[in-house]
Amino acid sequence: MLNWENNADLTAANSFGFPVRAERFLKVDNIDDLESALTEVKENSWPLLILGGGSNLVLAEEIPGAVISVGFSGINILADEGLQVIVEAGAGENWHQFVGHLLEKGLHGLENLALIPGSVGAAPVQNIGAYGVEVAERLHSVIAYDRITGEVVQLNKPDCKFRYRNSTFKTEEKGRYIILKVRFTLDTEFTPVLTYKVLEECLAAKGVDKPDALQVYCEVCAIRNSKLPTPDQLGNAGSFFENPVVSADKYTELKQAFPQLVAYPEGDSCFKLAAGWLIDQAGWKGYRDGPVGVYPKQALVLVHYGQGSSEQLLALAEKIKISVYEKFAVHLEMEPRIYP
Ligand code: FAD
Ligand code: NAP
Repeated sequence: MLNWENNADLTAANSFGFPVRAERFLKVDNIDDLESALTEVKENSWPLLILGGGSNLVLAEEIPGAVISVGFSGINILADEGLQVIVEAGAGENWHQFVGHLLEKGLHGLENLALIPGSVGAAPVQNIGAYGVEVAERLHSVIAYDRITGEVVQLNKPDCKFRYRNSTFKTEEKGRYIILKVRFTLDTEFTPVLTYKVLEECLAAKGVDKPDALQVYCEVCAIRNSKLPTPDQLGNAGSFFENPVVSADKYTELKQAFPQLVAYPEGDSCFKLAAGWLIDQAGWKGYRDGPVGVYPKQALVLVHYGQGSSEQLLALAEKIKISVYEKFAVHLEMEPRIYP
């Protein structure tokens, strides 16, 4: 017998802190309960939201149908080949704590992704990335429940179709797979990734040019803490818009009109524009409209000061999109999932 919670309060379960109620909510930590729950969902034709840490979602006040939180836990070494180790983690493990656990065990490769909120299970969904590393680089495979076949399957890296902040879980196969466990290939010897200039410069300012894993981890945490709001203190979902990728022609046109444009080469012939810079230049940094606003230290982050709603936030996002388009003729896409 499953213990669904009716009219569940999800205010603390979404990092914006919007007041949200789910028609019914269930946390599952084993496959039998998950299968039983999905049978009920199917029989009743309930819409279904799979919830992790709620840090990349904009939820409406009332969530119809069912919300299932995947609480699978455990961190295990599956294979040890000396220089490389395969580690499996349950989808319900906290991502930042997992990164810290690996550091303690001397297993390397995810240090640059420290302090990203959310769960291990959601990490492959948008191929989380920060400071020059994305999770796909270390992902071995995903163990998932396939809602079409009703089987537990192993998806290897190519099956996940990872690209910049995206994967098959967010696009082609959205809603099909429930991620239960994630496997990572990690190194026992540490090689720092310092391609991200800010990280390299902050370490250099402390006289560190060959950092060890702990130094990279701590520096990433320090930079993030200095620039990003903590959801516990100020509601947010990190970057609210994706960095738009434009053609070389578009980049050249913009660079001529705006010499200070912040952009980086992406692939062979495209450029990634820093969306935060575009929003800042359009005059939005620090803007506040009652309970919602644009974070004063980073224009890419929209914030909820309390007593507001997702409607108010989305209205602000729309105004920002229009003004950025009017100034630069560049479309911004929202990064968090809007549900329902
Ligand atoms: P949720 O928000 O709960 O869900 C996100 C999506 O994944 C939803 O579509 C959900 O249905 C789906 N999902 C969740 N769990 C599962 C599962 N087990 N199986 C299938 N689908 C699932 N992101 C970055 O990439 N880089 C950053 O540096 C970064 N920094 C951030 C900083 C802050 C302050 C905040 C608030 C957010 C930041 N984010 C960043 C965004 C967010 O932390 C990540 O996207 C994170 O992976 C979301 O995890 P979650 O568990 O909270 O997912
Ligand atoms: P930032 O340092 O102000 O840089 C602005 C943008 O420029 C970033 O989005 C980043 O793209 C890009 N950039 C900077 N240096 C780069 C380099 N050497 N090579 C390629 N691209 C470069 O960014 P920030 O807002 O403080 O964030 C720092 C890092 O944390 C970024 O990697 C960012 O993605 C990540 N982050 C993500 C979220 C989220 O919710 N998705 C939230 C907070 C922070 P990339 O984004 O492609 O790295």
